[in-house]
Amino acid sequence: MMRGPFHRVPLPTLFPFLSPADVNSLKRTAGMVDAVRTDGTTADWEWFPGHAVLAGTRPGTVLGLDAVEHAAEGDRLEFQLLVTRTASGRLVVDAAVNVACWCATDHATHDVDALGLVVGEEASLPDAFRAGAERLTGWLADPHDADHWRARGGLPPRRIT
Ligand SMILES: [Zn+2]
Repeated sequence: MMRGPFHRVPLPTLFPFLSPADVNSLKRTAGMVDAVRTDGTTADWEWFPGHAVLAGTRPGTVLGLDAVEHAAEGDRLEFQLLVTRTASGRLVVDAAVNVACWCATDHATHDVDALGLVVGEEASLPDAFRAGAERLTGWLADPHDADHWRARGGLPPRRIT
């Protein structure tokens, strides 16, 4: 696993089928995510070159961003943007709001709002990536409160003991 700002992501290695225009589109989209960050830093992306070359053999995340907005006192709220390779070799762009579970039965985490686009069927990779990033940046303007998202997902709130 590698980690760093988007300009260090080896896009031609991860996605060899992209045209130069596609690469520029992905970079513009990543810049859109950086632009809405309140602390002025660039987002920390993670990528997995090994997953890109194992096409069709094993599912795995190829490129992802975990914008952890809140992780304290056993609670957790994450906004995620992931490009994943499925077992059948397709790429899927997923954007999700992920919260810690406070149900009676522990599920660890829940995705309470999510967008999933299959590349090639519903959209090109640049278009799916932009749609996922737009969803992600929209969430960043929503309350950064895990209980707000659990309520929207019909999940029990965090128990204060
Ligand atoms: Zn649960």
